[in-house]
Amino acid sequence: MKRPVTIVGGGVAGLALGVRLRERGVGVVLHEAGSYPRHRVCGEFFAGQGEAYLRRLGVVAETDGLPRHSVSHWQRGSGKTVSMKLPQGALGLSRHRLDRDLAARFERLGGDLRAGSRLPEKAGGRPGVVWAAGRAPDPRSRWVGLKAHTLRADHPEGLEVHFGEGAYVGVSAVEGDRLNVCGLFRKREWGRVKKEAALPRALEVAGLGALAERVARLGLDEASFSAVSGLRLGWRGLPADRIHLGDALAVIPPFTGDGMSLALESAFLVEEPLVAYAEGKLDWAACVGGSNRLLRVRLAGRCRRAAWLHPLLLNPFGQRMLLLAARGGCLPFRSLHRLTHGTAPAH
Ligand SMILES: Cc1cc2nc3c(=O)[nH]c(=O)nc-3n(C[C@H](O)[C@H](O)[C@H](O)COP(=O)(O)OP(=O)(O)OC[C@H]3O[C@@H](n4cnc5c(N)ncnc54)[C@H](O)[C@@H]3O)c2cc1C
Repeated sequence: MKRPVTIVGGGVAGLALGVRLRERGVGVVLHEAGSYPRHRVCGEFFAGQGEAYLRRLGVVAETDGLPRHSVSHWQRGSGKTVSMKLPQGALGLSRHRLDRDLAARFERLGGDLRAGSRLPEKAGGRPGVVWAAGRAPDPRSRWVGLKAHTLRADHPEGLEVHFGEGAYVGVSAVEGDRLNVCGLFRKREWGRVKKEAALPRALEVAGLGALAERVARLGLDEASFSAVSGLRLGWRGLPADRIHLGDALAVIPPFTGDGMSLALESAFLVEEPLVAYAEGKLDWAACVGGSNRLLRVRLAGRCRRAAWLHPLLLNPFGQRMLLLAARGGCLPFRSLHRLTHGTAPAH
C-alpha cells in the first residue's frame, strides 16, 4: 500500500473503519481523545442491521449469549403498556464493552491506536484524514441525554420505551444482567443535583416517577453515569473536501433511527474508495467525491425521515396518537421501521 489513512475519533464509526481498512492491509493511525473502556450516553441496542455489521467486524458471535429483544413495549407515564413485535429484533450490547472490543480488534490487526490524542478540527481537512469524531456540540440545543446501568435486571426481554413530558426513555438489557436506562430530555431546571442523581431527578420531573422508583430499587452503577448536552439532531450536510462519518455526518434521532448502525454503515460505505486511495488508484479529491456520493445516496433520506418523525415522540399529542394507533393496530410500524433503519452490509 502506498498511502496510510488517519482516522480522527475512536467511537463505533472510526473503529469500524479502522478494522475494515486493516483487514485490507491499509496502514491506519487512529486518534481517540478518550480512553477505553468507557461508558457513553447511548440506548445500547442494535436495531436494524447493526448486528450484521458487528458480525462482519468479528466482535459479536451467536455464542456470546448477548440479550436479544424481539418485542418493544411502549408506555406513557404510568398508563397502559402496548407491545409490538420488532421487525428485525435488536441486540443489547453496552458501549463499555463494544468500544473496548473494537479497539482491541483494531490493535490486534496491527492498527496504530493513539488514545488520549485529540486532533484539532482543521486536521480533518488534510488528505488521507477521515473525521469520525462524533457530534459537534450546539450550545443552543434544548436536548440533554442521560444514561446509567442498573446493578441487576428485573425484565431482561424487550425494549421498553417510556414517554414522559418532553422526554422519552429507553430501558433494555445489556450483557452482565443489567438494564441500560437512557433518555433524551428537554433541558429543564432540575435544581442542583449531583451527577449520580441527575437521571432519577430527570425521570421524576418528566412524570416518570414509577420508573425512577423501579430504577432506585434495582440500584444504579455509579461508574456508568453519563450525560451529554448540546445535542443537535439531523443531517449535517457533506463538506466538499472532507470525509465525515457517523454522528459527525448526521445525528439520526434515537429510537426513530439507529445511530450506531448508521455509523457502522457509513464506515463500510467508504471502505472501497479509501482502499483505492491507499493503493494509489484514486487521488484524495476523487476518493472524497466518491465517498460522499455513496454516503448521501444511502443515508441522507433515512436521516430526514427519522428527523421528521422524531417530534412525535416528544410532544404529548404525538405520544398519545402513537400509542392510540399502536393499540388500535393501525400504526404502520414495519413500514416506518424500514424507512428509518438501514440495510445489510453489501460485502
Ligand atoms: C440519548 C441517546 C440514545 C441513543 N441510543 C441509541 C441506540 O439505542 N441505538 C443506536 O444505534 N444508537 C443510539 N444513539 C446514537 C449513537 O450513540 C451514536 O449514533 C453513535 O455513538 C455514533 O458513533 P460515532 O462513532 O459517530 O460517534 P461517537 O460514538 O460519539 O465517537 C466519537 C469519538 O471521537 C472522539 N473524539 C471527539 N473529538 C475528537 C478529536 N478532536 N480528536 C480525537 N478524538 C475525538 C470521542 O472521544 C469519541 O470516542 C443514541 C444517542 C443518544 C444521544
